[in-house]
Amino acid sequence: MRKLPPILLFLLFLISSANALEHTTINITRSLNYDAQKAHINQKTVDNILRIFSWRIDFNRDLKKGDKFIVVGNRGATPSAIIYIGAKKRIAVFSYIDKRGRLGYYDNHGKTLYPSFARSPLKYSRISSEFTRKRFHPILKTYLPHRAVDYVANRGAPVYAVANGIIKHNKRMGALGKVVYIKHGSNYTTVYAHLSKFARGLKPSSKVKKGQVIGFVGSTGRSTGPHLHYELRYKGIRRNPLTYRLPKQKKVASSDLKRFQNRANSILRNLKM
Ligand SMILES: [Zn+2]
Repeated sequence: MRKLPPILLFLLFLISSANALEHTTINITRSLNYDAQKAHINQKTVDNILRIFSWRIDFNRDLKKGDKFIVVGNRGATPSAIIYIGAKKRIAVFSYIDKRGRLGYYDNHGKTLYPSFARSPLKYSRISSEFTRKRFHPILKTYLPHRAVDYVANRGAPVYAVANGIIKHNKRMGALGKVVYIKHGSNYTTVYAHLSKFARGLKPSSKVKKGQVIGFVGSTGRSTGPHLHYELRYKGIRRNPLTYRLPKQKKVASSDLKRFQNRANSILRNLKM
C-alpha cells in the first residue's frame, strides 16, 4: 500500500476528530424494535438494549414518544456506550471487558445495572416445603409438584423484594391469596403469595428496591397457616430459589475504574451531555 503524505494524514486526523464520536440516535416514536430498525440498528444491539435497560425501564409502560437511545460506535460493531434519555431520567452504560474477557455494560460508577439477588425474601423460622416435583398437599390430599419454597414465619412478618424490580401486579389471586409479582429485568420474576396485606402504596409498575418491604406474611388463599410461598422464575420457568445460581452484580475491576470512568466522561463530553 502506498504511504499517505503526512499532510493528508493530518487532515484526516482533523476530520475524524471533528466528528470524533460515531453514534446513532434511536428516536422513540412507536417502540424500541420499530424505531431501532428505522435507525438501522442491528437486532443484536436491540436485544442488548432490552436486556440491559429492562432492569431500570419498563419497556411496556415507561418508554415514551420522544425518548431516545444513543448508540455510540459504528453501526455494525459492538457499541462502546448506550445512553437512554427520557423525560425524567438518563441512564448511560459503557462497554468494558472483564478479566475473563467477557464484554459487559456498566454505569459510570462501574457497576452493572443488574443487581445481586437476596437468597430469601424474609426472616423465617423454618422451611416447611421445599422445591419438589411431588409433595403431598395437606389441603388437596394429593401429590402435586411444588415449584416454590414455603417459609414459615409469624403472621405480619415483613416480606422484602429480593432485588430491584418493577411490580407487575399485586392482587388477590385464587389459591395464592394476596400475591405480589415483581419483574426483574427481562428474564426474572419473583412471586410472593399468601400475604396478609400489601405494603402501603404498592401498585403495578411501581419500582421497588432490593430489601424494600412489599407485604406481610399471612395465610390468604389456599393455606393452612401463616407462611410465605415464594417462587423464582427465569424466562417463565420456575427454578429452585434455594439452589439456583442467582444474578450477581458485577463491578469494573478497581485497577481499571479510573480509566473506565475517564473514558465514560469523555464519551459524554463528546456527545455534549
Ligand atoms: Zn407453597
